[in-house]
Amino acid sequence: MRKILIVGAGQAGLQLALGLQDRGYEVTLMTNRTSDEIRAGRVMSTQCMFHTALRHERDLGINFWEDQAPRIEGLGLSLAAPDGTRPIDWVGRLDAYAQSVDQRVKMAGWMETFAECGGRIVIHGAAVSDLDYFSRAYDLVLVAAGKGELVSMFSRDASRSPYDTPQRALAVAYVHGLAPRPEHPDFHAVRFNIVPGAGELFVMPTLTTSGPADILFWESIPGGPLDVFAGVKDPAEHLRVTLDLMRRHLPWEYDRAGKVELTDAGGTLSGRYAPVVRNPIGELPSGGVVLGVADVVVANDPITGQGSNNASKCAASYLASIVEHGDQPFDRAWMQSAFDRYWDSAQHVTKWTNALLGPPPEHVLNLIGAAGQLSSVARRFVNGFDDPADFEEYFFEPDKTAAYLAAAAQG
Ligand SMILES: Cc1cc2nc3c(=O)[nH]c(=O)nc-3n(C[C@H](O)[C@H](O)[C@H](O)COP(=O)(O)OP(=O)(O)OC[C@H]3O[C@@H](n4cnc5c(N)ncnc54)[C@H](O)[C@@H]3O)c2cc1C
Repeated sequence: MRKILIVGAGQAGLQLALGLQDRGYEVTLMTNRTSDEIRAGRVMSTQCMFHTALRHERDLGINFWEDQAPRIEGLGLSLAAPDGTRPIDWVGRLDAYAQSVDQRVKMAGWMETFAECGGRIVIHGAAVSDLDYFSRAYDLVLVAAGKGELVSMFSRDASRSPYDTPQRALAVAYVHGLAPRPEHPDFHAVRFNIVPGAGELFVMPTLTTSGPADILFWESIPGGPLDVFAGVKDPAEHLRVTLDLMRRHLPWEYDRAGKVELTDAGGTLSGRYAPVVRNPIGELPSGGVVLGVADVVVANDPITGQGSNNASKCAASYLASIVEHGDQPFDRAWMQSAFDRYWDSAQHVTKWTNALLGPPPEHVLNLIGAAGQLSSVARRFVNGFDDPADFEEYFFEPDKTAAYLAAAAQG
């Protein structure tokens, strides 16, 4: 059977490794941390995943936490006014539920499953020089190492990367004790709170190492009034700053947070990165080539919560491309075609995510305002998180938005 090396054990690397293993490929997984180190380490994401991405996991029978993780049945949006009121405030229902399973739980569990099923795991932080050697020893080398140093092998595609600096500073806190949302205590939803000109707070149910919890995730415009986490010294201070920003800008969220405490010492994360699309074929000094996977090649800002979804879709798409290719060589032409097939869907995510990072134009404000009056608009908007290609129909161009809203108002 064909020998495949996957570098990186995140959503994409592990999902692909498990899928290839299931098809009988000889897969080696090289990654820089053991499952115990992942489980005991720091949170890495908020990882909310929608129906299509979750379906790829179900297809492989690796949705091990589906019955324990909260079912996210809606997405809400609130726009904050300086006086603490919410001129826009609504929730739309998802056609199928979303879920967030802490990557510490999922990646550690998937690594152990891969090993139990006979998969070979090498714990090693790979360098470009290692890949030079391995590209000769394997039929195919896939680099699924996220946003780390190995991306240096993949050149930036400037035509698809409008930003060259981070557009948000990220600050995540996992908490227990958040009170139910009074607007709809009977179902779980992600809430997208916008502080105009300053950033956003996402509040999201999750399953973490200590059971169900909530995530408080600030996305701050760099240099703005919410961009205050850089000097934070420890997790307790991170939570204090998170809550203080909520008290000042989003009192309805702060009111639910009187009893919150961090889930664990690793329950906070902060940082920033520039969104980027890269050329998918990594060039090695020897002249060999490797194929980039998921965040290595398409890293969007998490403002739309799409990176894990993309990673799942990329893994599923690459799995199909590998299997369909049979015994033929995994050459440059095949690598480019495998990426192009994935980019067919990923391009919509990138376009929509990059659009949301700028100030909202008037037609987008009209759209999110109308969603508060028309439940059909709210429903369509929130289901776009599962299939962002739908935004092409009504989101980007003022004429299309106006025509859609006029039709929606007619019922
Ligand atoms: C704050 C934040 C919130 C987010 N929220 C969401 C969300 O709600 N929904 C969503 O869909 N996405 C979200 N994302 C994005 C999502 O987490 C990523 O896009 C996704 O994890 C990418 O998966 P991946 O497999 O490509 O890479 P990663 O998950 O980054 O995995 C990379 C793996 O490679 C390993 N590795 C790195 N370097 C090396 C090396 N040199 N050698 C060997 N191994 C290496 C790492 O240890 C890791 O195991 C968020 C991201 C952030 C930062």
